[in-house]
Amino acid sequence: MKSDLEIYEHANLIISAISKEISQKYQELNGGDLKVSWHESIAFNAYAHIKNEKNQTPDHAVGLHYELARKLYHDCVEFYEFINIDSVANNLQNLPEFILHFPTGIDKDAAIDYMFVASFSWVFFHECGHLSQGHKFVRSEYLNNEKYTHDQIHESTSSESRKLSEEESLISHVTEFAADYHATLMGISGLIHNCLHSDIQISHTDKVDLVLKINTLYLLGINLVFYNFHEKFFTECNFEFTTSHPHPLLRVGRLITLNIEYFDLINNSNFFNHKFDKLHLTTVGADCSILAYNYWCWSRNLILDIDNSHLGINDYSNPNLLQYYNRIITAWDKVLPTIDLLFDHEEVYLMVFSKQFRTLTRNDQITNNPRE
Ligand SMILES: [Zn+2]
Repeated sequence: MKSDLEIYEHANLIISAISKEISQKYQELNGGDLKVSWHESIAFNAYAHIKNEKNQTPDHAVGLHYELARKLYHDCVEFYEFINIDSVANNLQNLPEFILHFPTGIDKDAAIDYMFVASFSWVFFHECGHLSQGHKFVRSEYLNNEKYTHDQIHESTSSESRKLSEEESLISHVTEFAADYHATLMGISGLIHNCLHSDIQISHTDKVDLVLKINTLYLLGINLVFYNFHEKFFTECNFEFTTSHPHPLLRVGRLITLNIEYFDLINNSNFFNHKFDKLHLTTVGADCSILAYNYWCWSRNLILDIDNSHLGINDYSNPNLLQYYNRIITAWDKVLPTIDLLFDHEEVYLMVFSKQFRTLTRNDQITNNPRE
């Protein structure tokens, strides 16, 4: 196990490599600048800071706390230990339709490292999403609130006790989902790219197997991020707009959906020369969420029995869930023109809702609108 100092050095190396590439993109697109600032104060936090005014050359910074790296790494280690407890493994296999086996053929240190790299870089990509899409300007324009003109966007505020107004919360949720989308797509496309272009000489079948294994570790790592940021709120979900960030289980649901949609794109593009099984990916996504959720409850002494009841929150037959997403989609469509007018960004990372999903949420609005 790494010492705290080793974790900080490791985190620094990961971000240095990634940010170098992204900084170059900033230069090419806008002549702008992206910096990273590290903080020693003990806070599980990251933030996005846009220093320039609207319509000026981007002067952006991602703030990262060393504590974020330390806590995430320790969670990955403890999570690995959790899934290897005999009673846990037995109880998981008794859950209906649970098929996930923790990736084999990857040793303990490598598995922990994959999860850590996935989770930590995902947070960085999430902040890049806030920056490159100018969410600060979206928030200030649509909330007409001076506070948002100067504020940095902090992730630790997800557990703050102050209740936001419904409008503040809605705009905050939609920009958080957009940053999640940006981060998830950047992470997963980097993963596939690295597998395709790795120097390791392995057969195509083994490469497909490797992609699936790494995808599993990737999903597990990101699940742990969501729970860490929402420690105070994660047990109940009332689909109300009162918080700064969406409920972690809703973020998990979007993560699984986006993961499947991305593999769908790969299937349709033929560039991997393999058709990934959609049903299998769906089940693996749900199983990752079961593992991470139960780990979180176990590690925080919240429940003792392994279960999968939390999956019900993302049940699309729930009218409250559909109503929630209907409002998210409507708000996203409203703010998108503002984002488009801001500095150049990479279109591919802009959040998209599928036609089927839009239809599903609209139907619900007609029959189940609680305000009618
Ligand atoms: Zn955020």
